[in-house]
Amino acid sequence: MAWAPEWRRAEPRDGRASRDGRGGTGGSGLSRYWEPRAFGSREPPLCFRIKNSMVGVVIGRGGSKIKDIQSMTSTKIQIVKGDSEAEVKIFGSEAMKGKAKALIQTLVRKQEGRYSSVASVDNAASQSSAGRDLRTRPVVRQVRPLIDWDHVKAEGAAWAKRKWADLPPIKKNFYVESTATSSLSQVQVDAWRQENFNITCEDLKDGEKRPIPNPTCKFEDAFEHYPEVLKSIKKAGFQRPTPIQSQAWPIVLQGMDLIGVAQTGTGKTLSYLIPGFIHLDSQPISREERNGPGMLVLTPTRELALQVEAECSKYSYKGLKSVCVYGGGNRKEQIQHITKGVDIIIATPGRLNDLQMNKCVNLRSITYLVLDEADKMLDLGFEGQITKILLDVRPDRQTVMTSATWPHTIRQLARSYLKEPMIVYVGTLDLVAVHTVKQDIIVTTEEEKRTLIQEFLRNLAPEDKAIIFVSRKLVADDLSSDLSIQGVPVQSLHGNREQFDREQALDDFRSGRVKILIATDLAARGLDVRDVTHVYNYDSPKNLEEYVHRVGRTGRAGKTGVSVTLMTQADWKIATELIKILERANQSVPEDLLKMAEQCKLQKGKKDSGNGARNPQGKAKQFY
Ligand code: AMP
Repeated sequence: MAWAPEWRRAEPRDGRASRDGRGGTGGSGLSRYWEPRAFGSREPPLCFRIKNSMVGVVIGRGGSKIKDIQSMTSTKIQIVKGDSEAEVKIFGSEAMKGKAKALIQTLVRKQEGRYSSVASVDNAASQSSAGRDLRTRPVVRQVRPLIDWDHVKAEGAAWAKRKWADLPPIKKNFYVESTATSSLSQVQVDAWRQENFNITCEDLKDGEKRPIPNPTCKFEDAFEHYPEVLKSIKKAGFQRPTPIQSQAWPIVLQGMDLIGVAQTGTGKTLSYLIPGFIHLDSQPISREERNGPGMLVLTPTRELALQVEAECSKYSYKGLKSVCVYGGGNRKEQIQHITKGVDIIIATPGRLNDLQMNKCVNLRSITYLVLDEADKMLDLGFEGQITKILLDVRPDRQTVMTSATWPHTIRQLARSYLKEPMIVYVGTLDLVAVHTVKQDIIVTTEEEKRTLIQEFLRNLAPEDKAIIFVSRKLVADDLSSDLSIQGVPVQSLHGNREQFDREQALDDFRSGRVKILIATDLAARGLDVRDVTHVYNYDSPKNLEEYVHRVGRTGRAGKTGVSVTLMTQADWKIATELIKILERANQSVPEDLLKMAEQCKLQKGKKDSGNGARNPQGKAKQFY
């Protein structure tokens, strides 16, 4: 057996374990890594120098490399970092010091020949028989090379350049400002924005900002050069552009990327579809030459995808063909459609990703991209699929993103996929819900809910249409079978239902064959049924955004509506914020809700003081 002194694990000099496991003190120009402690040899150390950048390689993760070298050679190694070079001192017998030095140099050489396969120190050492205790055969591991990010980035850029070489030219700016629009004064523009849901716009471009275009207050202001567009809008009987349309059109028609923070029901679909039609039809290369779709709309749910498709067909422009691609739909038919040739794909990310991976769709030809209801797509966990899809969409495309909310995650998504966008906010969330809906709140108990809903249904007029929101699929099924047994015709919509059944349910409700739809939030998102008179929150929404969203299903397109929300003590968390919304909308606030808010305050106070005791920094926790 080889000489085996009583080695102990070398510790950093000050005895503290370092965070990175390397024992480095960092910060100062001189870092100590390892040093001998219980060392028996009185021989002078073998000294040599290596570059500071190589110290990590020699030490290895958590000191694994250097420990292995030490144990294999029965040496002790000290490395002291200098300004640019580190001094290595090896303590031990003459032969072993040389062996340890050779191993270190092998590591360094291998690292210097970056990206070539790096054999492990253990492996290298295991090939030598000298100084080895065969019973402690070292495990063969791979040395992980340090990643040279500059190199990786350069490779990535070169790959992207190769990938996107030979793309046909792209044209984005089609806007000619009308005289009426250009003659608006700043005062008039400000007043218009304030009157129109308090629209706000911002240029998110870094550095010098671009002027925010004036809103196009009439359809002619945006599309006077596109008579076919005007014709189909007139056919639909619309009076004037909605606020988001007025402000989005001049931005998108100029070829800029846009973020529209707006809810369903604000006319957001046409705000991106019509400029998209013009964009597709006005590209320098013909649709035939393009050899694939030109517009891609990604949506979170099948329902929304189908709704967008319906709008696409309704305002069809110059024979542009569209296809709706979503999970649950007939995959074969969708592929056939695409193969025959389409201009617009409206898709949910999962199914499109599937077709992309199986090379059933060419995304290279897309020049106009829409991420519709991006917040919902993230909520549903589609980020990975979106990333994969966008790898195949040319980076110089025009991108429009819509979202009902503007949280940090959406900002990050926008930063990744949009270039120098402008952002248009339509009002604030609470404003959207208010003016056209009478909002009632009933504080009750779980047990009383069934009686209350019966009473509500009894009081509905024959022409009324109601959506009943519940929190879970199970409740939706339960309630719909109860009502069906009582002879009340209902339909239900939730994520567990087959696609066909979901479409049938929506169709029945839209056409009026059934007047009551029981839905979970998931399935109801993006639902656009015009003549809903009542929203009944059988289960209270879990947050205010969902409340606003649900309530917004009624009182649409200039009509008024009624919402009823049942709340139990379990829903105290939203009480305070809900009161604010009700007050701003001039709605009456029931006494019970005020009490709930009081409780909410107390609970919050307790929680905060509890947190304060546990958390001496006293960082206040966000309530929602
Ligand atoms: P969206 O926000 O895209 O879900 O649109 C909601 C509904 O508003 C759809 O049924 C559209 O057809 C309709 N709509 C779109 N633009 C207008 C407009 N300018 N005036 C009235 N209704 C519109």
